[in-house]
Amino acid sequence: MLKWAGLYDLTARTLQDELIHIKMSPLMIEELVTADYREVVTSDYYVVKVITRINYGQSVSISGLAGAVSLAGSGGGLWAIEGGNYQMAAGLIKISNVSLHINEGIESISYLGEYYELNSTKGNSHSCDVTVVATPLDEVNIQFTPSVSIPARKLQHTHATFVRGILNPAYFGLRTVAEIPELVGTLEDPDIPFSSISVLMQHDENDVTYKVFSREPMTDALLDSIFSARLQTVRINWGAYPHYKAPEIFAPFILDGQHLYYVNAFENAASTMETSAVAAENVARLILSRYFREAHLHSSNSKLKSKITDADTLRTNL
Ligand SMILES: Cc1cc2nc3c(=O)[nH]c(=O)nc-3n(C[C@H](O)[C@H](O)[C@H](O)COP(=O)(O)OP(=O)(O)OC[C@H]3O[C@@H](n4cnc5c(N)ncnc54)[C@H](O)[C@@H]3O)c2cc1C
Repeated sequence: MLKWAGLYDLTARTLQDELIHIKMSPLMIEELVTADYREVVTSDYYVVKVITRINYGQSVSISGLAGAVSLAGSGGGLWAIEGGNYQMAAGLIKISNVSLHINEGIESISYLGEYYELNSTKGNSHSCDVTVVATPLDEVNIQFTPSVSIPARKLQHTHATFVRGILNPAYFGLRTVAEIPELVGTLEDPDIPFSSISVLMQHDENDVTYKVFSREPMTDALLDSIFSARLQTVRINWGAYPHYKAPEIFAPFILDGQHLYYVNAFENAASTMETSAVAAENVARLILSRYFREAHLHSSNSKLKSKITDADTLRTNL
């Protein structure tokens, strides 16, 4: 699909190379892309918007395509679902009428000739004609029989720390909280302990929920220097997205040549809700064309005829 769309080459070179290729000067890359200086506060801390650091926790050494997605996400005109994006997943689950097994991890997937057997942490066993893996396989421990082979991929961990409280202006070399912008980004500098701090929700003048992104966990001592008051702190360590490294090497979308599919192979191009939705739709189309065509070719019994009818309905829905 990436080749068809003319995007594949962008995964083979770094964002930096791509920007140099379009004749952007290194200084311009530094100033406009990695650091859009809005205001210099002190010699150590800049109030900057550092796009690739904020969106992927990484520098301009990410691939050109992930970089382009990152830059696209930095402008205006972004969409979000009123009341929270979780509603999109909830709505899709509702209209697809699936049985959802929450808090039940899959521990093993075995191909038993005609079907897959999935065994879960709750001791349940599920038989499936088709299996779709829709989580990155890099850090999960799912036992595949027979084993599957995918290229090694490192995930970039982003620590999201949510703090309800108030920032300490002195930490930023400022006198009042009002002087601190809604988004504080930082430069690629190992001495700076966070990638960004932004306002998530303003409850009242002195009561704000902030979102802090960092590559390392934020210790209490560090948070106590950045915030003058903390009412509540929630920390989440996300295996967030691939650690992008051009040229990207993709895992296959079909893991075993049969009907074991892997949506997250696409994340080597870019990891976003939208691209994951496109990858999921493509896997659904692949299943429709491969599984139901196979069923059509190999049998003409009434059970399979009904599957083909289902496929036609599904295809229309897609
Ligand atoms: C901090 C952060 C900020 C982001 N910001 C944005 C943004 O602003 N815009 C945007 O578009 N994207 C953003 N992303 C990226 C976006 O969240 C991902 O691209 C997207 O969630 C990928 O969707 P997915 O369904 O492939 O995987 P996930 O959303 O990771 O879902 C995988 C699911 O599989 C489940 N699972 C894992 N292992 C098993 C198992 N063994 N058995 C059963 N279930 C299992 C997990 O619990 C999880 O529910 C952000 C990501 C992070 C971490």
